[in-house]
Amino acid sequence: MTAAGPVVGDVGELELLRLLQPHLADTSERLLVPSGDDGAVWQPVAGKAVVTTTDSLVQEVHFHRSDGDTNLYRDLGWKLLAVSLSDIAAMGATPGPSFFAITLPSDWPVADLEVLYEGLAECAERWASDLAGGNLSSGEIAVLTSVCLGEVAPDRVLRRGGAEAGWSLAVTGRLGAAAAALRLVHQPGSEEERTIAAGTATAWRTRLRRPLPRLVEAQALVDAGVGVCMDVSDGVFFDARRLLRDGLGLLIDADTLPLAEGVRESFPDAWLEIAGGGEDYELPFAGPAETVQTACGRIEALGTEARVIGRFDGGLGVRLLGARGLAEPAPDVGHGHFGPS
Ligand SMILES: [Mg+2]
Repeated sequence: MTAAGPVVGDVGELELLRLLQPHLADTSERLLVPSGDDGAVWQPVAGKAVVTTTDSLVQEVHFHRSDGDTNLYRDLGWKLLAVSLSDIAAMGATPGPSFFAITLPSDWPVADLEVLYEGLAECAERWASDLAGGNLSSGEIAVLTSVCLGEVAPDRVLRRGGAEAGWSLAVTGRLGAAAAALRLVHQPGSEEERTIAAGTATAWRTRLRRPLPRLVEAQALVDAGVGVCMDVSDGVFFDARRLLRDGLGLLIDADTLPLAEGVRESFPDAWLEIAGGGEDYELPFAGPAETVQTACGRIEALGTEARVIGRFDGGLGVRLLGARGLAEPAPDVGHGHFGPS
């Protein structure tokens, strides 16, 4: 157990909602009816379209309760919202209100739920989303769901489809930190764990637990004329397939993959798998070479790295250009639910 004191089953739904109310948004110019009614009412800016995204963190799939880590629940709250906001970014939208649906076993400490809300509220405030309501329910395992609304001018929507042969693929930030952190969690006491600098391991772990939605960078992409984008949740090789269609392939240059600091050195035999391991929440984006270069420059002006990693062609699937100049199928790594993809 990570917190002492009452558990949610002792307190009841109404009292829990009263406890959590201070973390929720008040009425504002745009949030006409906040939480506390049967539904929230939000007024998007005239002429903008509404984007909706949703994501879930499921106990035993995305996290384990027996972590023994007091910050786990605060970080879970942050991540719950951040992953939905990452999808808002990948659509080219700016955040509106957000919502949650939380199912918990009745033996969850109330203090852990409160800390989870603090993490949610912290993330909402950081990215200017109004935490506008939600639902609590009891269940066998914890299932945490977030829903975010966003708004976007119809001509600024980013889509996965539409890349053309000859276009460049670039990506924001660096890859592999979250997957490297997970490896250390799953292989405690490994050679890697013993030799990695503490600061490096902490930086990886922070990226795993507190992803940063690339909302500002996405706007720079759109401003530069990019129209094709997605976010990396399941791994860059796995997700990049979603940009393809019949007759359109992608060649990624392994040497150009921007890896998180320390990954290549710490995992000399596994860095490629880690690069495609997922949960990066970076934005791969595509366009004609010149447009992508302009976009990379604008993103770097914001203080975030951005780098061309590949080129679309008429080949089959996602292939990797290796050190010997030969193209091979990209490693079959990344995360797909419900078995083989
Ligand atoms: Mg996504």
